[in-house]
Amino acid sequence: MGNFIQTLVKLIQSLFGGSTPTTTPPAQSPPQTDEPHVDSCVLFNIEIPSTQDLDSLPLYGPSTDAEADIDISAQSLNISCNIQIRPHLGIVSVRGGPRLDFGVIARTVGGTFFKLQGASEKDPDGHRWYTITTPAGAGWVRGDVVIITEDCLVHSFITEDDLTPPDPIIETPTERFPLPADVRINQGYHSRHPAYDLNTAMNTPITAVSQGLVVRVGECTNCEGRSRPNIFPCFGNILKDPAWGYGYGNFVTIRHDYALMPPTLREHMDDNFLTDGFVYILYAHFAEVHVRLGEVVNQGQRLGLSGNHGCSSAPHLHFEVRMGRDETIDGQWLNQKAVNPDLLFEV
Ligand SMILES: [Zn+2]
Repeated sequence: MGNFIQTLVKLIQSLFGGSTPTTTPPAQSPPQTDEPHVDSCVLFNIEIPSTQDLDSLPLYGPSTDAEADIDISAQSLNISCNIQIRPHLGIVSVRGGPRLDFGVIARTVGGTFFKLQGASEKDPDGHRWYTITTPAGAGWVRGDVVIITEDCLVHSFITEDDLTPPDPIIETPTERFPLPADVRINQGYHSRHPAYDLNTAMNTPITAVSQGLVVRVGECTNCEGRSRPNIFPCFGNILKDPAWGYGYGNFVTIRHDYALMPPTLREHMDDNFLTDGFVYILYAHFAEVHVRLGEVVNQGQRLGLSGNHGCSSAPHLHFEVRMGRDETIDGQWLNQKAVNPDLLFEV
């Protein structure tokens, strides 16, 4: 706390004492110690504002001009075959057209069967899109979220390749996960810090706790080109500043399906009427991020290297878990319920 007051006084002096803010001396990082309660992180409920149109968010990768690729076979209208949304998935979007830049017109859930109405040519990422009819009307789902029966081979677009896509089916976990780095918890979950701080050295590889989709990547532009990557303590304006990654520095948010979560967390979601919803995990203060928006990451895949970037007083990983039903959490982070990471880990 002494450090905090000293730094605050210095900041006030720099603002009112004739020197300009740009000459403010760097915040002092406390020396690294083995003390268990280093105040490495003061982030609390930081809102990530919306920065883009959610429907145009390239959730699975870059989308391109779709018009030229749409080609529904007339033959397909006369065939009868079923496709099933892969049972392990939670909520799946049905879009108004066969690309991610079409808006979401309906949602469905894993395990649902639909009569196949048609198909598109493969998109630039190699995925075919299929038309189905939902109670909300006809729409499109991407090939990697469905299982196709052999009956569908009569469809002019569907080949053996479409019947045997890479199988992402993952068993629902029966136990909790290992921590995303081989480290101890520096700060656990509590009301003023609804997250873990993991006591990582700089550049510790950080891995995904489960398979999921990268729904947000934040870049701390202020962390580059300066004598220090961090700022501490932090004030409201810093926590609202995208140049500081809203205090998170460089960060990644991964969306996970309900079915891929440990039973402890699934029960908690059931209790909160979020069965088949999503879990979002935000990993913060990275020195380097190694994944991109829209990428599907596997359990154990490296997300980046830990750092001391953003609002941080010492190298650590801030690990924050939320649950909800939104496909993306852009601009809606505060609306998602915070989750104690104890429900995810054997600690
Ligand atoms: Zn933290």
